Formats: sequence, structure tokens, C-alpha cells
Amino acid sequence: MRDGGQAANPAVAERLERVRAEIREACREAGRDPAEVCLVAVSKAQPLERIEAALRAGQRVFGENYVQEAKRRWPALREAYPDVELHLIGALQTNKARDAVRLFDVIQTIDRPRIAEALAREMDRLGLRRPVFLEVNLGEEPQKAGVTPEALPALLRLCREQLELPVLGLMAIPPLGEEVAPYAALLAKLAREHGLEKVSVGMSGDFPTAIRFGATHVRVGTAIFGPRPERGPREPGPGQEGG
Ligand SMILES: *Cc1c(COP(=O)(O)O)cnc(C)c1O
Repeated sequence: MRDGGQAANPAVAERLERVRAEIREACREAGRDPAEVCLVAVSKAQPLERIEAALRAGQRVFGENYVQEAKRRWPALREAYPDVELHLIGALQTNKARDAVRLFDVIQTIDRPRIAEALAREMDRLGLRRPVFLEVNLGEEPQKAGVTPEALPALLRLCREQLELPVLGLMAIPPLGEEVAPYAALLAKLAREHGLEKVSVGMSGDFPTAIRFGATHVRVGTAIFGPRPERGPREPGPGQEGG
């Protein structure tokens, strides 16, 4: 309980306020309206009490990577905080599409036709439409999720014209250890070229820069919640949710 107990809660509120201040400052420097930038608090693998501390501090937009983890805790949290907006920011398998559509308000990680089709089918079944982002593999890294920039126009056409998904914008995870600036600028340019308003890029280490280069959604985890604790042996990790 060294860092996970009640004692950590004031720390979450303070870190959150610091992150918000950095967002305002980056917007001021870039001549942008802070209302244009949405802070997505990434709560994957964080203890529940830190999430509750962020909720008490007024944070309402959260990002989760794993459908199963979100399913365990967000339905109860939503009862206490009905105005929460939950974003899926992790890779999605088609067999999780139904749960994803039920649990998440925004799905940021559409990166191939099969997942777009599965989500559209589940949305049809539930009689609703969730806003989505398409994830772009800007670095064209072979192991990484995301549609290549070349394949983006076809995927976007499928989503918009055939599946009638409300595509809000583009999302990217730049290659590890590289400067975010050129990737944020490229993602913003691609979004503009395709008539999309929203640009999801920037994490704890680089969100102010991402904002200067056009991010509208920054996904910030450890800068708000502190380091993620080690996962327990029974917790699902990346790639362990099955496909
Ligand atoms: C974990 C994660 C984040 C947040 O990372 P931090 O470094 O903790 O801010 C943002 N985006 C995605 C897709 C992630 O998986």
C-alpha cells in the first residue's frame, strides 16, 4: 500500500491540476483555445482509489486499454458518476466488439475493416452509433496496430459510406523514444486532408508538444495517476485477451 492507498489520493488531484495547467500553457503558447483540447485520463492498470480520486477532482474523460479490465470497474463507477465519458484506446479483437460497444462512449482504435464491420454490426444491434477514431500506424512499424497512411483513405471510406460510423478523427501512438512533434503534425495534416476534426496523440512524456503540433485529444496516464503498479499474476496483460 506504499503508494496505492488513501495517502496517494491528494497526489492524484495535485498531479491532475499540474497536467491541466500544462495543457492551458501549451494552448496559450500555440494560440489555441484550451476548450479545444480534451484530456483523456488513461487509467489502465491503476488502482481503483486513484481513479476515484481523479473523479472526485472533477476528471470525467477516461481511457482504458483492455475491455475486460474496463468491464470489471466502470459500470459501478458510472453509477456514481453518470457523466463519465469512456474511451477505448487499446487494441480491439472482433470477439470483444459487443462488450466494447456497450462499455465505451468513444472507440479510438479502429484499424482494419474487420473491426470496423464488427463494431458497426454491434451498434446496429443496440440501435446506437458510437463516435470512433481510426488508428494510424504513422511510423509504419510492422508489429504495431494501426492502418498505414496509404490504406487510410479506403478504411475511412468504408467506415463513413458503407458502415455509417461517425468518424471523429485520427489516433496514433508514435514510435517509442521518438520526438512526438513530426508525428503529431503529420496526424493533424492527415486529419485535415480527410475533413476530420479530432487528433488523438500525446502521452505523459510529450503531451504539451503534441498540443503545439495540433493534438485535440491527449492520452495521459502516469503523469496523472503515478507509475502503474505491477500487474498481479491473474490480471490480463497486453495481448492476453485472446483474438
Ligand atoms: C498507456 C497509454 C497511454 C498513456 O501513457 P502514459 O505514458 O502513462 O501517459 C496513452 N495512450 C495509449 C494508447 C496507451 O496505451
